[in-house]
Amino acid sequence: VSSLALPVPFQVSFEFFPPKTEEMEAHALDVRRTPGPARAALRVGDLRCRRLHPRAHACHRASPPHRDDPGPAAHLTCVSATRDEIDDVAREYWETGVRHLVALRGDPVAGVGTAYEPHPGGYAYASDLVEGLRKVFDFELSVSAYPETHPAAGSMQAEIDNLKRKVDAGATRAITQFFFDNAIYLRYVEKARAAGITVPIVPGIMPVTNFAQTRRFAAMCGTSVPESMARHFEGLEEDADTRKLVAATLAAEQCTKLADEGVEDFHFYTLNRADLAYAICHILGLRATRTAAPAIA
Ligand SMILES: Cc1cc2nc3c(=O)[nH]c(=O)nc-3n(C[C@H](O)[C@H](O)[C@H](O)COP(=O)(O)OP(=O)(O)OC[C@H]3O[C@@H](n4cnc5c(N)ncnc54)[C@H](O)[C@@H]3O)c2cc1C
Repeated sequence: VSSLALPVPFQVSFEFFPPKTEEMEAHALDVRRTPGPARAALRVGDLRCRRLHPRAHACHRASPPHRDDPGPAAHLTCVSATRDEIDDVAREYWETGVRHLVALRGDPVAGVGTAYEPHPGGYAYASDLVEGLRKVFDFELSVSAYPETHPAAGSMQAEIDNLKRKVDAGATRAITQFFFDNAIYLRYVEKARAAGITVPIVPGIMPVTNFAQTRRFAAMCGTSVPESMARHFEGLEEDADTRKLVAATLAAEQCTKLADEGVEDFHFYTLNRADLAYAICHILGLRATRTAAPAIA
């Protein structure tokens, strides 16, 4: 496993999800064949979460490893499982060497936008999951945060209250839903700090390669999409190569502006496109170097 060593104090993590179809698998394998330093830098997590457990949703790897780096993180949700089943999964992760979980409630089985029904014997919310895990394990626990509020939260106050519950239950870090308007993120962090939330709130960055799809997805997540972004992708519907260049440029600009505001950590929703996230990190000043792999069976 490799890391990104950099002259600036940035910390980045990259999220991959387990490929669900043969086509996605082929693409994921392509990710791993990404040439040169991109491959070295972005074999992050190694898509290994898929082999770790069938309940694995996604995984991410922070880089560069620092003194307290807990290594690859596996995402764990409460969906359709009893507390015991989830605890068993957590135990399996622990035994395979995973020390960092992203603890989530997860989306309703019937799809985003439908009502969420907790499993009768399960954890109802992410805060319950964090509390349950914290009692038994010493994982680093990251949780979600929604700068534009979770669609079911009802209000910003409810959103901040929920994040506070998760942190009070033992979460050590929050990662945000993706957003495109930095001012929204900065206001959210300010509100969280005012509510006494002191853990890092890492911005989730999503490079946009398919604008139409992103706009649909953003609408479901409650993420606003600036009109300027529509203009940047206008006329590129049949031109994937240029879309990619535009995507990297826009995301890098978003990150550098956040860095100007003092942000030092970034989480990339790679959508299994490591090359794009790599290019953005390169613009940020990160450079690939080789380091020892963390021990994972
Ligand atoms: C960084 C990140 C990574 C993600 N990774 C995945 C993944 O790998 N797999 C996946 O399926 N999904 C993933 N998601 C999506 C996430 O599962 C959905 O957004 C889901 O709908 C909510 O999960 P949560 O952990 O945010 O829930 P929670 O924090 O539990 O919140 C869910 C909703 O319940 C409300 N709520 C919480 N507690 C209470 C309470 N006590 N009383 C009343 N209402 C309450 C909240 O306000 C919110 O509206 C991710 C999201 C983020 C931001």
